[in-house]
Amino acid sequence: MAQKVGSKKGAAGHGAESATGARRKGAAEPAAELAAMVPGTVKCPKCGAPQAAAPVTVLRPDDGALGLLFQGTLNLFTCAACGVRFKLEVALLYRDDARRRIVYYVPPEDAPTPAAAEAQVAAILQGCFGGGGAEKPECRLALSRQEFIEKIALLRAGLDDRLVEFIKYQLYLRHEAAMDPRQRQLFYDFSLAGRDDLGFILFDRATGKAQAGAHVPMAAYRELEDAWRSSAELKEEIGRLFPGFHVSAATGFA
Ligand SMILES: [Zn+2]
Repeated sequence: MAQKVGSKKGAAGHGAESATGARRKGAAEPAAELAAMVPGTVKCPKCGAPQAAAPVTVLRPDDGALGLLFQGTLNLFTCAACGVRFKLEVALLYRDDARRRIVYYVPPEDAPTPAAAEAQVAAILQGCFGGGGAEKPECRLALSRQEFIEKIALLRAGLDDRLVEFIKYQLYLRHEAAMDPRQRQLFYDFSLAGRDDLGFILFDRATGKAQAGAHVPMAAYRELEDAWRSSAELKEEIGRLFPGFHVSAATGFA
């Protein structure tokens, strides 16, 4: 059961630190403006009893809450009155200051279309970094929790998500009958991180169930990385494929 709290304002507004108690170095830090906590109470979706709920909205590389996110239990609450478990679906921000990277999850409830989500992220970045002075971090948009987790896992594995999505794009093209991206979606398999293969799991969009695995040798990724560094043409092609914050191979087939 998912319940929506906070709206665009909850994500972009000024607020206290996340429920994990993660450090905050002072409001002058521009990216800190992205930090927000949905304030106050929510109603239990089953019995309507008011609940004090402080969902995590900001995650950093060393946060314990990352483990909850990866397990699918982040922002899961139990109603004190009726005992029902419910998940608060709120916008989530992952910020890795050392790498100057931001990943922003905009839940479908907050943005009716991918274009609306793009505009929302653009507005937030403009609000935080538009004044000049601060160097804009590299930002990505995730339209599902699964995409959000994937982007974080790729960052942590030291992989460039544009190259990984380009590899997915080639897989979709080559196996369009089996991997039609309108019905299925490939996700990076981070459980295989560090091996000689770049692993993917194919999920059915309708059921959310894993259907198959796919592997690409890491050597192929490294080759692509070398080519990307030296070829302006390839850079352009990848830039054309992924023009916005939502870097996803599937969008090319929409
Ligand atoms: Zn309840």
